[in-house]
Amino acid sequence: MSTIDLRGPFVLDTRDLGRRAGSQREYTLTVPAPAELGIDVFAVPEGDPVDVEVRLEAVVDGVLATGSALAELKGECVRCLDPIQDEVEAHFQELFLYDAPESEDEEDDDLSVVVEEHIDLETAIRNAIVLEIPFQPLCSEDCPGLCQECGASLKEDPGHTHGAVIDPRWAGLASLQADADRGEA
Ligand SMILES: [Zn+2]
Ligand SMILES: [Zn+2]
Repeated sequence: MSTIDLRGPFVLDTRDLGRRAGSQREYTLTVPAPAELGIDVFAVPEGDPVDVEVRLEAVVDGVLATGSALAELKGECVRCLDPIQDEVEAHFQELFLYDAPESEDEEDDDLSVVVEEHIDLETAIRNAIVLEIPFQPLCSEDCPGLCQECGASLKEDPGHTHGAVIDPRWAGLASLQADADRGEA
């Protein structure tokens, strides 16, 4: 038996809609984002607003939800670790069945169902948002990332180089040379 947390942010009561096939209702809501709405490096911060527009339609075997979710993603560039943010608009469509089919098939656990005349859009919205997020979010397409030697940001310091690495056996000599240079000045 499927259960849903009726207090979840994306739960809708379908009693107003009724079960007569063809009946429709539209909802516009703004809800606080649940945790982990996105991917590790780029997600809607928990509690930030998510604007949802959704049309519910009663069909023969369930409720069809079609809509979009709009929110602000925050995270960091995977190359230079600078903070990044971007608006995400994700479209979703999900059929919530009145009766989950009796089956031992594990795949059926993923089916969405109407529970106590409520539906929970969270999984559909979460999946739609994740699909919109680039696998490797960047601050810009050509972000040069960080210097491999010292971790400096190459975006802020494009000409950044480290001269030839001094052989430790010559390091003493190099500092002697530096002393000599200073003596001449
Ligand atoms: Zn970057
Ligand atoms: Zn460096």
